[in-house]
Amino acid sequence: MRTETTVDAPAAASKAEAALSPTRNVLIVGVGGQGVIMISKVMALISQRHGFEVKQSEVHGMAKRGGIVFSHVRFGSKVWSPTIAKGDADVLIALEWAEGLRWLDYLKPETGVFISDTRKIVPPFACRNRQFGAESTYAKETPREILARVSNGYALDATGMAETLGNTRAANTILLGMLSTTLDYGEEEWLSVIEMFVPKGTEVINRQAFLDGRAWVERARHDPAFGLADAEAYEPPVLKPGELEVSLDIEAAWCKGCDICVKVCPERCLKLDDKNIATLKDPAACTGCRVCEWLCPDFAIRVTRTPMPQAAE
Ligand code: SF4
Ligand code: SF4
Repeated sequence: MRTETTVDAPAAASKAEAALSPTRNVLIVGVGGQGVIMISKVMALISQRHGFEVKQSEVHGMAKRGGIVFSHVRFGSKVWSPTIAKGDADVLIALEWAEGLRWLDYLKPETGVFISDTRKIVPPFACRNRQFGAESTYAKETPREILARVSNGYALDATGMAETLGNTRAANTILLGMLSTTLDYGEEEWLSVIEMFVPKGTEVINRQAFLDGRAWVERARHDPAFGLADAEAYEPPVLKPGELEVSLDIEAAWCKGCDICVKVCPERCLKLDDKNIATLKDPAACTGCRVCEWLCPDFAIRVTRTPMPQAAE
C-alpha cells in the first residue's frame, strides 16, 4: 500500500532557516514491525517544526514482521515530488541489513550517509537448505565491505544494543540518534518529538537509546576501528558439529504459539507445550542452525553458539 502526505509548513520557529533551503532526502527502509514509519513520522514532524515543507511517501507490506516497508521523507523550502530518485538520498537508514543493501544505489554517491542495523531478518526462501552448516542465500556482503563502498557509513548491532537497554524495539530510536548527527536539529527537539511517537512507559528507554545512538556515531567518527568492530560483532562463527556449544532461549511472553519454528526446525527438536509456547524438546538434536531464530516473527528465540574450548584455541 502506498501513501503520500504533504505537511505544509506551520508558523515556523525558524522561517529564516527554511527559506531557500535545498531539499534534503532521507530514505528509511526495513521490514514490517520494525518502526520504519515511526522514524519517518519523527523526521517529518521535526522538519515541519523548523518551517520546512515536508513530503512523505510510504509503502508498507505486511503489517507484521516480514513485509518490506520503506518511506521517503523529503523536506526543504519547496518540495515538488514525494519520492526520492536513485542516487539522490542524503541519508539511507536501514533497520534490516539486506534491505539496506537493496537500496544502496539510492544514496548520493559522493556525500550520502548510510546508517544500518546489522541484524538480519532472513526470509524463509533464503533457508531452503536446512542441513548443518548449509549457507542461506541471504546477502553475503559484510559490513566492512559495504562501509568501504559508501562515502560515509555506520553499521552497528542496534537491535543488540536495544536489547541491552531492555527493549529490542528501541533499535529504531538508536538509529534516530545516529541520524540526528547528520542534521542540524537540537538534541532536545529530537527527544521531544520522539516522545510523542513511542509507546507510553518506554520514554526513558527510548531517550537513552537516542543518546546512545548519537554517542556511538561520535565515537565511531573519532575511532573507525571501534565502528567496524561493533559492526562485525554479530557475525556468527563458522564452526562444524562438535565445535559448538548451543543454547536456545525462548522468551515465553513473546511467543504467540504460531508454530512456525516447530515446522521449520530441520531437526524437529521443537514443540509447542500445553500452554502453546514453543519449547526445546530435544536439546541434543539442536545443531544451532538459527533457522528458528531467524524465522520467528516475534523475536522470541535467541540461539547462542559458543565455540567449545578446543575450537576456540
Ligand atoms: S517461538 Fe516464535 S515462531 Fe515459535 S511458536 Fe513462538 S512465536 Fe511462533
Ligand atoms: S531448534 Fe532452532 S537452532 Fe536448533 S536445530 Fe532447530 S531450528 Fe536449528
